[in-house]
Amino acid sequence: MSVLLVSSTALLQVFLLPHGTYCAALGHCACSKREDGVRLDSAVTIPARAIVQCDRAVLQVPGVQRAIHAGQLRVQSLQSLTQPVSVSEPTIIEANGIAVATAVEPTEVRNERRATSVKNRRS
Ligand SMILES: [Zn+2]
Repeated sequence: MSVLLVSSTALLQVFLLPHGTYCAALGHCACSKREDGVRLDSAVTIPARAIVQCDRAVLQVPGVQRAIHAGQLRVQSLQSLTQPVSVSEPTIIEANGIAVATAVEPTEVRNERRATSVKNRRS
């Protein structure tokens, strides 16, 4: 079951997905292994103001929980993406099984554009 993590900051966010919490919630190991067999926790990168599709297990990761609590991340259901978006629909790019979507433009930009198009219609 997937969720969408929506970044509300202008900063890139990287979250380690610890084996003990993430893989346990996921039900299988998502870690990578070094040549010498040492397990390396996986991570999720969320670009500034982007929407990233992750497994719901990511909500069990303390770092992700802190970011949500601090308002740096919002959680959206996957269904919200399939509903019509009036202005700009996010583009989803699949990379390594994690879908990354370009963020919907900030509200101020959209309002500015709308104001411009209204002006053009009048003249
Ligand atoms: Zn693991």
